[in-house]
Amino acid sequence: MNQRFDNVDRDTFRPALALPRSVYVHVPFCRHRCGYCNFSVVAGRDYLVDRFLNAIETEIGWLDRQFEIDTLFLGGGTPSHLSPANLERLMAAIRARFSLADNAEVTAECNPNDLDEATASALAAIGVNRVSLGVQSLDAAKLASLERDHTADDVHRAVERARSFATSVSVDLIFAAPGETRDAWQVDLDAALRLQTDHVSAYELTYEKGTQFWNRLNAEAITEADEDTQADMYTHAIERLNDAGLAQYEISSFAKEGHRCRHNEVYWNGRPYFAFGPSAARFVDGVREMNHLSTMKYFKQVEAGERPIDFREQLSPEPAARERLAIALRHVDGVECESFERETGFSVAQLLGKHGPSWQQDGLLVMDDRVRLTSAGRMIYNHISSLIERAVA
Ligand code: SF4
Repeated sequence: MNQRFDNVDRDTFRPALALPRSVYVHVPFCRHRCGYCNFSVVAGRDYLVDRFLNAIETEIGWLDRQFEIDTLFLGGGTPSHLSPANLERLMAAIRARFSLADNAEVTAECNPNDLDEATASALAAIGVNRVSLGVQSLDAAKLASLERDHTADDVHRAVERARSFATSVSVDLIFAAPGETRDAWQVDLDAALRLQTDHVSAYELTYEKGTQFWNRLNAEAITEADEDTQADMYTHAIERLNDAGLAQYEISSFAKEGHRCRHNEVYWNGRPYFAFGPSAARFVDGVREMNHLSTMKYFKQVEAGERPIDFREQLSPEPAARERLAIALRHVDGVECESFERETGFSVAQLLGKHGPSWQQDGLLVMDDRVRLTSAGRMIYNHISSLIERAVA
């Protein structure tokens, strides 16, 4: 263990706080709400778009100066649901306080059936250079069961349009949908690979409380894939995507060389970021804040001149270091031990406690100058991260 930090007072240690160089903006509009979705979304209420843009202009305008940023992520909801004029207005609000560094990554989440010529031109004009398409599947029956309103043809057209202006195109996929078999997932994944995108995010379907899918699951109207099938599907995805040149770099993320999502890497590396809009979560000056999930409550607070914050916490040094380590282990590269200790005041070995040696012995974790999970460790990431976040010295 590195001895240079033995004199650190671990109750009061505060890492040197860097200025954020990343911004997330949550655009809550969608045509309809998909049955599995628990995001902060207002579906079918486009008359609120003006009110949203006013609120975003106000919220961003509360910053008292200009910042330079390396990554901007327009997420949602569905940013591509905004009209070209409204996309332009949104970017003007962002640029009022944020200038984009040379070579900045600017991502927009898009629904395949939104990406017509006009929207693609507008996204290109405002500087979007990375498109993340909410594809989820190319199988008609699975798309219907997920309540998606696009077709495989829409996806092919959208990928072509995205390629015409973006330097990086990503697709989101879902596996373990209700009734989906391993064979069906293989066929679906192969269809997605034929799109030859630069990046794929593959997520296992989760049944979140409060969603239609949660209610149906509890009413036994749909069934969840069993754990073995889920693990099988995930393993197949890793192998197939890696074989196709999309190397896994995070639990759910796969990229060709040079196409990792730089914005998401900010989160996994424990770096700070600004965020605006309903439900947006930020990490600035060592403080985590989250805006109100309810879009209406977000509007009302901003319109009343109040910051729309629902939740705020500044973790004490040890929980903050534990959280940072747990998040970093999502990344296949893990984290460099010495810089982790320098920045948090805690050594990795100390935080892993008795689990460190036993996870290494069981082939779940590797520790040299870096600490990272093996592929077996990533299979049980949720279990490992919960033990790290719980104090166990
Ligand atoms: S399009 Fe995306 S954000 Fe909108 S309801 Fe469906 S899953 Fe949720």
